[in-house]
Amino acid sequence: MLAEERVLHLLRKTGALLDGHFKLTSGRHSNRYIQCAQLLQYPQYAAELGAALGGRFAGEDVQAVVGPAMGGILVSYEVARHLGVRSLFTERDGGGMTLRRGFALDEGERVLVVEDVITTGGSVEEVLAVVREHGAVPVGVGALADRSGGKVCWMVRLEALIKLNVSSYPAEECPLCQEGMPVVKPGSRS
Ligand SMILES: [Zn+2]
Repeated sequence: MLAEERVLHLLRKTGALLDGHFKLTSGRHSNRYIQCAQLLQYPQYAAELGAALGGRFAGEDVQAVVGPAMGGILVSYEVARHLGVRSLFTERDGGGMTLRRGFALDEGERVLVVEDVITTGGSVEEVLAVVREHGAVPVGVGALADRSGGKVCWMVRLEALIKLNVSSYPAEECPLCQEGMPVVKPGSRS
């Protein structure tokens, strides 16, 4: 099994995981920032992590992998490559999550749902609903990283390559601000 240390090393090496003091789009401040696209831009690392995650479900007779756009697309693709099955993705269509582009799932098809990072689990929840609407059977949820703090609970098995603790605070209560650490807005060049 791929060690958490290796996953952490790759996240840090590629800049997908940053430690510091960040201002999030929500306005909250955080001590860590995760952007898996930074890691997934390297196909060899994407393949390595996809194989590790797919391997966790090797005995589940998975027939298709589905992830939510955008974050889940590359993860789905690499996990599906390892398992030798189809890779699909869901998209938002006027709000709700759906399968578009002629993607279909068969009645009873065994489906693995994947995501890059699980935070609230909202997107995964919606993909699970799409899978069930098509009469297919979710056999598990796989993620590169789980930063939900154990708050998500589905009726299927959850596997994440790494569990990450991320603290966030309302700006006015941020201890990092109180320490006088400069705040960085991730994604902006400064
Ligand atoms: Zn702060």
